[in-house]
Formats: sequence, structure tokens, C-alpha cells
Amino acid sequence: MHQAHVMLLKQLEKKRKEKPVIDWAKYCEWRIQNYGSIWEPNEPPPNIWKCSCGQVNTSAMDARYAKCTACGLIYPGCQK
Ligand SMILES: [Zn+2]
Repeated sequence: MHQAHVMLLKQLEKKRKEKPVIDWAKYCEWRIQNYGSIWEPNEPPPNIWKCSCGQVNTSAMDARYAKCTACGLIYPGCQK
């Protein structure tokens, strides 16, 4: 096989193994545009949420931000 093809295949293989990254800012934007709020109406912010690293956090996610207890990643808040 051509060297360039081998490299491309290796890149694709690597990509497939990578976990998809959740773009919270984009999600919040979309959610607010379409529903007017990040949360369901009459629904309090979730007390249990899963980080993109896989950690399940039990600290309340509020309107401002939430921090993952495992990796420390800060999820942006979604205020109107
Ligand atoms: Zn995390």
C-alpha cells in the first residue's frame, strides 16, 4: 500500500478511538435558542451529571458553572 494511504488509515484509526468531546457552550447556545432555557421548563438543574471524562458527579450543577470532581473540567453555565 502507498505510504500516504497507510498514514491516513492510521489517522482514521486514532480518530475512531478518541472520545467525542462534548461542546457545552454550543449545546447551551442551541438549547437556549430553541427552548429559551438550558433546562426543561419546571425542571431544576440536575444534581447528577456525567462529565465527558466519564466521571459521574453528584454536586449540583447550577446556572453558573459546574466542576467535575475527577478531571476538574469546568462546564460553562447557561444564563440567559
Ligand atoms: Zn471530568
